[in-house]
Amino acid sequence: MSIMDQLSMKDKVIVITGASSGIGLATARLFSECGATVCMLDINDAAGEEAAGQIGEAGGNAKYYHCDVTQKTETGSVPDTIIQEFGRIDVLFNNAGIISRKSVLDLEENEWDMTINVHVKGVYLLSKTIIPYMIKMGGGSIINTGSGWGLKGGPNAVSYCAAKAGIVNMTRAMAIDHGRHNIRVNAVCPGDIDTPMLHDEAAQLGEDDSEYMKESANRPLRRVGQPIDVANTVLFLASDLSSWITGTSIVVDGGGLA
Ligand code: NAP
Repeated sequence: MSIMDQLSMKDKVIVITGASSGIGLATARLFSECGATVCMLDINDAAGEEAAGQIGEAGGNAKYYHCDVTQKTETGSVPDTIIQEFGRIDVLFNNAGIISRKSVLDLEENEWDMTINVHVKGVYLLSKTIIPYMIKMGGGSIINTGSGWGLKGGPNAVSYCAAKAGIVNMTRAMAIDHGRHNIRVNAVCPGDIDTPMLHDEAAQLGEDDSEYMKESANRPLRRVGQPIDVANTVLFLASDLSSWITGTSIVVDGGGLA
């Protein structure tokens, strides 16, 4: 099979959470360019509908679905709708996220719960619905968005660090459980990507936005990451090029953790 065939997403259906913005949106665009049918899940309905419309106008096949990944009713029903509409789900990108830049002392219990729910429970809930479809189809690829802060600690981000470390180890556990179903499960661990989340962190910390971006670029490759840097890695992990890779995390951070 040629390298282009191995990278092709033609006839594949991908489900992306957090697809209205940032990394999820860049991944939706990239997979559409590679021929996939892209199912874009998010809670930001206006941005998601607009983005799916733009992908359609550019010749792609994308559809937006409202899905709060913390809500079992929604993570239960949306995949069923997708299966009715498109007949299959080949790739699941569990990517929705939020961040509270607070220490244990400052963080409220509801903020703790929300961070853990969006990240850890969200991955669990949607995977629980979609894995049975993948098993019926004979396999699939799941990619979870971790973080550099799932592999090391960071300041004033205690719930986020806990959630992302949870995702990194869930990824290993899911890979062990579902390898026999021909389902590969991997994580991408980005560091400082130029998305609304990174700018929101500067605001939460009361820091000047452009100074914060400069500090974030202080890493071996001397720049902040772009959403496409992560999307390219997700494409690799979804494609046949990574067919012998499961249960691992790929750090995408310009060398920040080096
Ligand atoms: P982003 O631009 O803020 O995108 C995140 C998207 O997830 C937003 O559209 C957000 O909607 C949505 N979302 C939030 N809660 C949700 C829920 N309960 N159900 C469904 N969707 C929900 O941020 P991003 O940087 O692309 O983040 C994507 C992933 O990368 C996250 O998991 C994040 O933790 C991770 N990450 C980012 C960086 C970075 O530097 N940017 C670094 C490491 C890891 P709202 O806007 O309405 O909240």
